[in-house]
Amino acid sequence: MNRKIGLIYGDGIGPEIVREAKKVLDAVCAKYGHTFTYERLLLGGESIDANGYPLTDETVAAAKTCDAVLMGSIGGDAKTSPWYQLEPSRRPEAGLLGIRKALGLFANLRPAYLYHELRAACPLHESIIGEEGFDMIIVRELTGGLYFGARKTELVDGVMTATDTLTYNENEIRRIARRAFEIACKRRKKVTSVDKANVLDSSRLWRKVVTEVSADYPEVALEHMLVDNCAMQLVRDPKQFDVILTENMFGDILSDEASMVTGSIGMLSSASLNETSFGLYEPSHGSAPDIAGTNQANPIATILSAAMMLRFSLDLDREADAVEAAVQKALSDGYRTGDIWSEGCIRLTTTEMGDRIAGAV
Ligand code: NAD
Repeated sequence: MNRKIGLIYGDGIGPEIVREAKKVLDAVCAKYGHTFTYERLLLGGESIDANGYPLTDETVAAAKTCDAVLMGSIGGDAKTSPWYQLEPSRRPEAGLLGIRKALGLFANLRPAYLYHELRAACPLHESIIGEEGFDMIIVRELTGGLYFGARKTELVDGVMTATDTLTYNENEIRRIARRAFEIACKRRKKVTSVDKANVLDSSRLWRKVVTEVSADYPEVALEHMLVDNCAMQLVRDPKQFDVILTENMFGDILSDEASMVTGSIGMLSSASLNETSFGLYEPSHGSAPDIAGTNQANPIATILSAAMMLRFSLDLDREADAVEAAVQKALSDGYRTGDIWSEGCIRLTTTEMGDRIAGAV
């Protein structure tokens, strides 16, 4: 199979971790007889340095010619990087919001999975984790809600007043709900839809539309949960969750909480999908400027993002399984990067971990 993949190396540790993910994809191609061609795309700080802007029309146009895009992370140290002297719309993060919007990436998927080998890193008590651990995926709406609504800061009766608007229409809710139910069908068949329906009109519409969509998926159990309760349940009993479906801002906060509960930010992948099979795949963590260029970063989140890309955009389930199994084997064999290292394990650099996983594929 021939496929074209866009590669955004990005900033900080981005180039180091994307290089390892590409190494693993090369191993997949060699084993299964595929040919992937790569096009390098600039985004974030790298694009500012080259073009003055964090996202250009060329990057968007080139991304549209790809079957999927794999990305490291963007951004730098806000205190020291000159990128943060620029006005907000020209900073690295604006490039990320811009490319999500330009490519219509409305569905953000973030798995939070506790590897048995990394249980010691989980900050929760053993009685909460239990024998089976937890395995959930957060499906977050990514292009609507508070982050994309109209906003203004103005003087009202002589008092500075800021306003942000939270808007959702039924079509936006319906399409993300469908994604969540489809994913649940391939998992443990449970969707927890998270909202604030006791206060917000947008949440009441959210609940109504999600309930309507659920009628098309009778095999999937649907429950509704208020966001404040969900924030508590994630640390009280994370095992109860399979698919969490929620709007943009709630998903932003809850997915970070879920990732912290696994204790291993360097292990967590993510995907942002549009209406077609196209997606942008990236680790959940940032560009870690504090360890950039030291060959210490954990490349596993990016490698698992590449596995998600194989599964969701390239329809290569067997190959995705092989990558996930190779990650599992590296952990079972006791190999760890510094962030997940514990007594008795073998400490590897970024490149050594990439070699191990590519070798296991
Ligand atoms: P961060 O995730 O980059 O780092 C937080 C801590 O986790 C640091 O100590 C870092 O060394 C460590 N860490 C992160 N990833 C790691 C990995 N793979 N291996 C080992 N250790 C790892 O978060 P931050 O410091 O708040 O942000 C740094 C920059 O990243 C900022 O510019 C921020 O805007 C950006 N950022 C980008 C994205 C993205 O590209 N989607 C997401 C979050 C943050």
